[in-house]
Amino acid sequence: MASSEELHKRRAAAVARGIGSVVSSYVDHASGAMLTDVDGREWIDFASGIAVTSVGNSAPRVVEAVQRQVERFTHTCFMVAPYESYVAVCEMLNALTPGDHEKRSALFNSGAEAVENAVKIARHATGRPAIIAFDHAYHGRTNLTMALTAKNMPYKHRFGPFAPEVYRVPASYPFRDALPGTEAAARAIDLIEKQVGADNVAAVLVEPIQGEGGFVVPADGFLPAVAAWARGTGAVFIADEIQTGFCRTGTWFASEHEGVVPDLVTTAKGIAGGLPLAGVTGRADLMDAVHVGGLGGTYGGNPIACAAALASIETMRELDLCAAARWVGATVLPWLHDLAGRHPLIGDVRGRGAMLAIEIVVPGSSTPDPAATAAISAACHRGGLLTLTCGTYGNVLRFLPPLVIDEPTLYRALNILQAALQGAEAG
Ligand SMILES: *Cc1c(COP(=O)(O)O)cnc(C)c1O
Repeated sequence: MASSEELHKRRAAAVARGIGSVVSSYVDHASGAMLTDVDGREWIDFASGIAVTSVGNSAPRVVEAVQRQVERFTHTCFMVAPYESYVAVCEMLNALTPGDHEKRSALFNSGAEAVENAVKIARHATGRPAIIAFDHAYHGRTNLTMALTAKNMPYKHRFGPFAPEVYRVPASYPFRDALPGTEAAARAIDLIEKQVGADNVAAVLVEPIQGEGGFVVPADGFLPAVAAWARGTGAVFIADEIQTGFCRTGTWFASEHEGVVPDLVTTAKGIAGGLPLAGVTGRADLMDAVHVGGLGGTYGGNPIACAAALASIETMRELDLCAAARWVGATVLPWLHDLAGRHPLIGDVRGRGAMLAIEIVVPGSSTPDPAATAAISAACHRGGLLTLTCGTYGNVLRFLPPLVIDEPTLYRALNILQAALQGAEAG
């Protein structure tokens, strides 16, 4: 078998440089919360392929469902010859997303595609142009979703011009603005009314907990206030639950923590145990406003991905992975707070369930320290723990373990993290 070093050489000559990788080790196989690279080294997976393999890598039910489906048929295109599993995934999404109103769903391939379609539906249904997005937002890398994403490097730099009628307003970032949620919402709403005009707003698009932007949990009251304003003005409230959905934060969807019922919800990542699938789910009157043939795509809701989604959801239910995510949060958060007490470079500890992060700063200040963050992350990698960084300032270390992680593995990971922090502080 080729070593990581050999593969890296081949890659440099074959794969576009614009595609980066967090680590230079190449994966051979994976199971649950463990990855094994081609050099025979084991890693604890605190990335889950960016919040995707919540049910664990190669989860038994997913593997079985995919194998069964791939033998029955691989693809017909739902727009050509439909099949049951697509309908069943839509039924599941309608039942699991917040609110018991009448809903419809449509399936796509990627998160960005889901966000694009949610925007198409909102504009079509309202007849209005403007979309409101927030500071630190991440919604994808296609042209429209680049416009919706806040951060220039690496997502947008020299990729413009961007789609018009996207307006950005401040979010709630408790560590950096110290504002109560209702005040942060009022600040955003005032700008929308003065600079965009309520009547022009098709949709307000928000991540209930911001993902790539830094795992920012908005202050209590922010999301309900923004949702209420949207409802009052006829704008569609879209919750981008692509990273937060499917038990990740301890509930099926993160909007539930504050009882927010979005008009539309976008899903992807954790939905199908690693197969590419995404969805838009929401109010039947909005979803069904679009003419027949107005939505779709060749691969959207591919039967193999649908089979994997149904098996993943069954796994989440049977193993109660929402409870598992709450257990991860209840175990790790106090541990991180304790660590923060001893390591002043941890400026903030935050997150919900199994979506957790520490923000790294110059001790005694709130000045971001992206170099120290990268050093800690690299030390974790050397210790065999796969971690990711994120944040507008590149100074957030985020933890996204599979929800099936067991206690000894979780503690082994935390010990690697602690050693990495000690190393960083020692210089
Ligand atoms: C990852 C992500 C997206 C984009 O999903 P892709 O499948 O990478 O296109 C959109 N929104 C949020 C909140 C995400 O975390």
